[in-house]
Amino acid sequence: MKMGTMATINQEISFEIASLICNEFGYNLIKSDTSEIEELEIEALMEIEEDDEKDLLPRPPVVTVMGHVDHGKTSLLDAIRDTDVTSGEAGGITQHIGASEVNVNGQKIVLLDTPGHEAFTSMRARGAQVTDIAILVVAADDGIMPQTVEAINHAKAAGVPIIIAINKIDKPGANPERVKQELSDQGLLVEDWGGDVISVELSAKKRINIEGLLEMVLLVAEVEELKANPEKRAVGTVIEAELDKGRGPVATVLVQGGTLRVGDPIVAGVASGKVRAMINYKGRRVKQAGPSTAVEILGLSEVPSGGDQFVQVPNDKAARLIAEKRQELRREEMLKASSKISLDDLFEQLSEGKVKDLNIVIKADVQGSVQAVKQSLERLSTDEVQIKVIHGGVGAITESDVLLASASNAIIIGFNVRPVAGADQLAEKETVDIRTYTIIYKAIEDMKAAMSGMLDPEY
Ligand code: GDP
Repeated sequence: MKMGTMATINQEISFEIASLICNEFGYNLIKSDTSEIEELEIEALMEIEEDDEKDLLPRPPVVTVMGHVDHGKTSLLDAIRDTDVTSGEAGGITQHIGASEVNVNGQKIVLLDTPGHEAFTSMRARGAQVTDIAILVVAADDGIMPQTVEAINHAKAAGVPIIIAINKIDKPGANPERVKQELSDQGLLVEDWGGDVISVELSAKKRINIEGLLEMVLLVAEVEELKANPEKRAVGTVIEAELDKGRGPVATVLVQGGTLRVGDPIVAGVASGKVRAMINYKGRRVKQAGPSTAVEILGLSEVPSGGDQFVQVPNDKAARLIAEKRQELRREEMLKASSKISLDDLFEQLSEGKVKDLNIVIKADVQGSVQAVKQSLERLSTDEVQIKVIHGGVGAITESDVLLASASNAIIIGFNVRPVAGADQLAEKETVDIRTYTIIYKAIEDMKAAMSGMLDPEY
């Protein structure tokens, strides 16, 4: 103010004034190499351009296998990989890079190597959607089990089409009809029951009807009209990453748009660098990777996280600056109270029109309570807010429940159950609101109160 600038502590002052003040106190103020123009360019580069319909070309589907433990997910993945005879190359050993490809009648299908809905939803919780189609494995001798229901609800919450693989039909106790009956109880009506969900009966172990399943995958892919523009700058998602002793940071990325080439400067999460080499699922070096291709890349400055977005940028400097900017944003995000839904600020979010659907995950000690809580809560829906129970199950609140809630912006309600060790920490990290009750009407009361802005804050 002595220098004639009337500014409060919250206002910006010019570089010249700031520099004079710094000198006064014995410091030198240096202009950062990020000029204002660069700042704008960086912001523009961080946005992914919308695609023009005319630039879009069909792309192969990316598939995740889900289902209850021991129903045959791993066996099915193995069986699918075995069908790939087109290569006909000697010693074509599949290398583990987190994803693989098969060719069916000259068409490509990409398989994510980590089966299960946890991997699927943890990606989604980070804002990444890589799966186009979910194959739900159900053992014909066991039927629908708790993790089958979880998988169904995780796939539904993500809006990903489901193909049912009724597995183990070679077993004496196999009963595919019972599986279809149980699926219909879950709201999945298969085709021969008059519905539109595709189901395929097969045996992963005996390699029966694996081709039949893959043809259905291609059929669903066609209906979904999966497309991407191969000509724009490359963009996609990190599937997995690690620090390799000899090779440094190694990341498997799925290219989702554009074409990635060796030598391209990229940013992956908060890591940056130049693609030094690319290796495909067969362990071969490749020079370029188009849409729906998974490749391992070398050359990043550090190890990104699974679910991080990667994007190609014009030069090394932009890569570095964007990585810095992302780091800054991530720090800010962690500091800032999250924008996720909670009962405490439900009314506020409703009033501001920020939420229309209130998603809920219910866990209870017995199935009867799940149903009772679900019905009572859904009945509270109004014109302003639709209450949707996206998953209900028996048992403690698990990390998988928290991830689903995080990915779907949902609240978790536990009835006579508590979070397992680890789940509450994860909930805190993901800022997922968990409410536990022992009396149903108390849950209803709280929900009503939250919807009308009358809920007493919880400390
Ligand atoms: P995951 O836990 O879902 O990955 O299941 P796995 O693929 O590990 O399979 C569990 C068990 O079921 C293994 O012992 C498999 O050999 C067996 N299995 C998988 N598919 C079939 C099948 O089609 N028929 C029979 N009889 N057994 C199978």
